[in-house]
Amino acid sequence: KLLLAIESTCDETAAAVIGRDLTILSSIVSSQSDLHEQYGGVVPEIAARAHVERILPVIESAMSEAGVNLTDLSAIAVATHPGLVGSLLVGVTAAKTLALILDLPLIAIDHVQAHLYACQMSSAKNVFPAVGLVVSGGHTNLYDCRDALEMPLLGSTIDDAAGEAFDKVAAILGLTYPGGPSIQKAADDGNADAFDFPKAFYHQSRLAFSFSGLKTAVLYEVKGQPGAHQQPPEMNSKRLADVAASFEKAVVDVIVRKCEQALKQLGYNSLCVGGGVAANRRLRHDLKSMCTERKTQLVIAPMEYCTDNAAMGAIAWESYDRQLFASLDIDVTPGLVRAQ
Ligand code: ATP
Ligand code: MG
Ligand code: FE
Repeated sequence: KLLLAIESTCDETAAAVIGRDLTILSSIVSSQSDLHEQYGGVVPEIAARAHVERILPVIESAMSEAGVNLTDLSAIAVATHPGLVGSLLVGVTAAKTLALILDLPLIAIDHVQAHLYACQMSSAKNVFPAVGLVVSGGHTNLYDCRDALEMPLLGSTIDDAAGEAFDKVAAILGLTYPGGPSIQKAADDGNADAFDFPKAFYHQSRLAFSFSGLKTAVLYEVKGQPGAHQQPPEMNSKRLADVAASFEKAVVDVIVRKCEQALKQLGYNSLCVGGGVAANRRLRHDLKSMCTERKTQLVIAPMEYCTDNAAMGAIAWESYDRQLFASLDIDVTPGLVRAQ
């Protein structure tokens, strides 16, 4: 049995053919990073247009790389939420069309659940129940992952996502987009304790994040505070490395702290992490230390399945088994379902 999964929530157009035993026969990802680079972030209009141009070639590549025909498929799955409305509509329209003409069941994928399912795909053991952390350009969310399809949201960011903060701070520092990798590189030679940047909610038990104050603090440190008499010292590579390292530490400290609090609150000893920011070296290292200390299993999605991809659409088999199919008039849901 084979499944075609389609992903177009943000700025990656992706398709994958996935076997019943979660084998990935093909996983094609067409990133639009280059299109959005000059704007320092994803421009929804440009993203939607690029998805339209790419969706069919991406699906065709996924089919041909897997060496299978459309008639070999058992179901079509697509991420219907959350994401950018124009982007989501492209993948969903393609999926509905294929389901209709091939007379196959349609399965709706929750994109953030899929990010966490990427952890299950790489693990021989059952990773759930677990605390789930999704840290990406659009999300900083903590979930109570009771199983693959039941993941109530515990908390999320009240303003910027962690990846968004990396991207914006990189722009302030004049580093290239996407900001995560360039800040990590710049931070290599820096002193992470050079600046004491704010860590929102760190000393509170509330499972929430906020990175906009941190971003402003970096902006003032680099460009100076509006109306202040004193100008900040001239930027040089040492200072830049120190700012990058201190910023990175502030983000990571707060994320690790919130994961630890969630583990404590739920009494779980398993932590699953997905999303593009999970590629960050300091984050991976510090999560590992915290989990080792707490005797907690840490599963971070494999690098290629951290950023947006369709292979994590393997979660659709879970819906398939439970006969949870979507009707052909299903709509996209751009927003995140809020925590209770
Ligand atoms: P979504 O939020 O819908 O999942 P996205 O495209 O915004 O989609 P991803 O593709 O999962 O998110 O991840 C991209 C983000 O990850 C960017 O903000 C990027 O800066 C960040 N990122 C990538 N590598 C690193 C790294 N090494 N350190 C920190 N952040 C990183
Ligand atoms: Mg992306
Ligand atoms: Fe994503």
